[in-house]
Amino acid sequence: MKHIVILGSTGSIGTNTLDIVAKFPDRFRAIGLTAGSNDAKLEEQVRAFRPAVVALSDQAAADRLRARCPDTGVRILSGQQGVTEVATHPGADLVISAIVGGAGLVPTLAAIRAGRDVALANKEPMVMAGHLIRQEARKHGVRIFPVDSEHSAIFQSMEGHRREDIRYLILTASGGPLWDLTLEQMRHVKPAQALQHPNWKMGDKITIDSATLMNKGLEVVEAHWLFDVPPEQIQVLVHRESIIHSLVEYRDGSVIAQLGLPDMRTPISYALNYPERLPLELPPLNLGKMGRLTFHEPDHDRFPCLGLGYAALRTGGTMPATLNAANEMAVAAYLKEEIGFLDIAAVIRSTMEAHRSSELTSLENALEADRWAREKATSIISNLKF
Ligand code: NAD
Ligand code: MG
Repeated sequence: MKHIVILGSTGSIGTNTLDIVAKFPDRFRAIGLTAGSNDAKLEEQVRAFRPAVVALSDQAAADRLRARCPDTGVRILSGQQGVTEVATHPGADLVISAIVGGAGLVPTLAAIRAGRDVALANKEPMVMAGHLIRQEARKHGVRIFPVDSEHSAIFQSMEGHRREDIRYLILTASGGPLWDLTLEQMRHVKPAQALQHPNWKMGDKITIDSATLMNKGLEVVEAHWLFDVPPEQIQVLVHRESIIHSLVEYRDGSVIAQLGLPDMRTPISYALNYPERLPLELPPLNLGKMGRLTFHEPDHDRFPCLGLGYAALRTGGTMPATLNAANEMAVAAYLKEEIGFLDIAAVIRSTMEAHRSSELTSLENALEADRWAREKATSIISNLKF
């Protein structure tokens, strides 16, 4: 029996994870759950999964939850401190990191420092402080299992191979909902259209990141820190069907890939139960019926965010944390229709240009860069609004 904690249990990754827990009650028990402010959904999860402890980062939501389920006996914590306490719960064998955005950095790092293995979906902390996370994981003997489908594919494609034989990691990208639009058409895209992802049903933030290709920019940085491969050896390939989840090219010319229908339960379950594969009984991949798979080079003119991801990684230090924070602010402003779609990249670029990158050696450095960039991006956004 594996005891797990889920950070971000009410989100898209969180609910998919609980779906697996529900299917395999003899293998997994969810002992701790956390969310931001969705107390109604968390109440349902408390009743269905009977965790020992839960936390809501939003204080008012935690008060509502206390009023909703006094009968359940669950301990209810609140604030970032409460979330972090659940993240470091002494009874957990594995922590599923699935909060969205930089808000996941402190609890995820706390789980690592407490010696918990981590199944990592929340990529933004890896972008903000990948060096630190990797260093702390080594120091505490912690394993980090990738949940992001591309990184899970790479992880699987590296099993049984020597890392010194790797020539390239090739991350596939669906191209998102706006791949076929011209720049002029993109200028006028409303959030409702940008939120229509062709292959994946995910949270709003990552869906907009997929539309700008910033998601792939973040994933390049994530891959660098997870697999210790330099940016020159990380490539991106647009593959509209999201069947090949990523590939590894070796120096003898062999290319190893992982394929499957786009369903996050496959990579989540692999991270939960590594190295054993769970009988998920999902519909089979039928390549014969599919007929063909397509590939394109990424288009940096229409999707500048991908290049910004590479640029931040090459600069290093506090620059990736700056990129991430500016992106979070720009995406939030876009979702509120305060700025246009193309302004997202402009806000990130201007914030990065204004930033003087410095070495990142501590959590405090990362949080300070994050705070600075949020303020800078906010002022850039308010200048764009009229
Ligand atoms: P989501 O928006 O559906 O869920 C986010 C979760 O985090 C919710 O439980 C929410 O309550 C919680 N949360 C939000 N703000 C918080 C805060 N300030 N403090 C504490 N908790 C907070 O997001 P998602 O799509 O599940 O994505 C989660 C993470 O996984 C993201 O980093 C995303 O990039 C990554 N990811 C998601 C998918 C996917 O298929 N959804 C795939 C790959 C990677
Ligand atoms: Mg991904």
